[in-house]
Amino acid sequence: MADQESSMAKYEYFRKVDAVCDLFQMAIATGANSPGELDIPMLMQVLPEYHASLVPQIHPEVIESILKPKNKNTIVAHMSAVKRFVGDLASRIDEGQPVIYNFAVTTPEIFLGMDMIPVCYELLPIYIAATFVGGVDDDIDTTEDEGLPGHICSAQKAPNGAIKSGKMPLPDLLVKSTVPCNSSNMMYQWAQQEYGGELILLDSPYYANRRAFDYYLEEWKNMVKQVEKTTGRTLDEGLLRHHVELGNEQLSYLYRLQELRRQVPNPDPGMHRALDVAALYLSGVNREMVEYTKICFEEAQGRAERGESILPAGKKEIRTVWTWGLTPHMIYLPDWLEDNYGMSFLECGLSFLPADIVGYVDTSSIDSMIEGLAWRSFHMPMGRTGMTHADVMIEDFVGIAKSYHADAAVFSGHMACKHSWAVAKMLGDALQEQAGIPSFKWETDLLDTRFTPHASAKAQLAEFFETLI
Ligand code: SF4
Repeated sequence: MADQESSMAKYEYFRKVDAVCDLFQMAIATGANSPGELDIPMLMQVLPEYHASLVPQIHPEVIESILKPKNKNTIVAHMSAVKRFVGDLASRIDEGQPVIYNFAVTTPEIFLGMDMIPVCYELLPIYIAATFVGGVDDDIDTTEDEGLPGHICSAQKAPNGAIKSGKMPLPDLLVKSTVPCNSSNMMYQWAQQEYGGELILLDSPYYANRRAFDYYLEEWKNMVKQVEKTTGRTLDEGLLRHHVELGNEQLSYLYRLQELRRQVPNPDPGMHRALDVAALYLSGVNREMVEYTKICFEEAQGRAERGESILPAGKKEIRTVWTWGLTPHMIYLPDWLEDNYGMSFLECGLSFLPADIVGYVDTSSIDSMIEGLAWRSFHMPMGRTGMTHADVMIEDFVGIAKSYHADAAVFSGHMACKHSWAVAKMLGDALQEQAGIPSFKWETDLLDTRFTPHASAKAQLAEFFETLI
């Protein structure tokens, strides 16, 4: 391998995400609390050439948000975890590990237990879209140039385009639960057809009952056998337990944060929710990601004990539940809404995991760990509420609205999630009737910055929140 280009240098998505981690950490390490306090000319002089070339492309609003005292420690911790993950992933690929892409409802522990580092197909574009103006728009266009329509999901269009352009490695294996949408199922099949490798599908039942889970568990066991056969690796009980324990510990802080966000005032900044989605996709991957969730929890707990708000002094809190997703290419949006309108972010449909139902993975045996991971996957965001009776999503969010004392709901409808648009009206009505709160629905796209431009998104949300002040 000595004379070959390393994966970190070769694949732009790896290199760019790694550089984002460095840039955010360096900016925060200066001690600046706002962009005006940053000595940009001095920083540009000390930055490596590649890093410096990225600086002009970064959203100014993102810099403003990450430097705030309420956000900076958690951002540093999150970026440490991501840097370690991307570095380890690139090294393992250099050493000859198969390239494994998994869909977002499957956390990585099962593959880590086979001594392989997978990458969630939808993960790396989140960081790039969150950081840079125009984020992954080029990669979305690359996929659409192949004849795929604009109205399918950018969460797959972006990585598909990145592989086509050589910014991400070709797959050896794609692992896809067939929940929640036909769009994502077909996009994985298209990726396999275009780029090769093997596609392993976990047939995901429509229902959410025990019989359905037993069927899904059998699918999980078959998936483990297929991955072992394809890769020649074997699931190691000790290694699996190590990563499952890390994942359990990580979730313990996530669950406690969910409890803390029920308090008035909400002590937890909303910008972290997008990072929590990514952390969930990397559950159990390394100790650093546990530290990220731990710091989020400890900082929020400290504020709760002191009765401190995350809002500017004197702002009335508008406690808001985000009933579908958030918008990763506007990662600064919750922070902007906190400062300007007093919005506080309670939960969202892409990061909420019901603690009383999902709980922890039982580490007593290899079978119990496989079952526990399958159970979590069965209830992951997009999986739990995306393809079953609407009652599940409605009961989850009405329950959150009541127990978190919500004042309002926002449905940030991702353009491609056709199924969620169908439930949005029923959900809004239920929130009004059962929790007494209004819902605002707006159209966005998870990663495509052009679908609803930032200025338009801000104007629409501002109009809604102004009615609640
Ligand atoms: S559920 Fe929505 S966000 Fe998830 S893959 Fe399908 S279209 Fe994309």
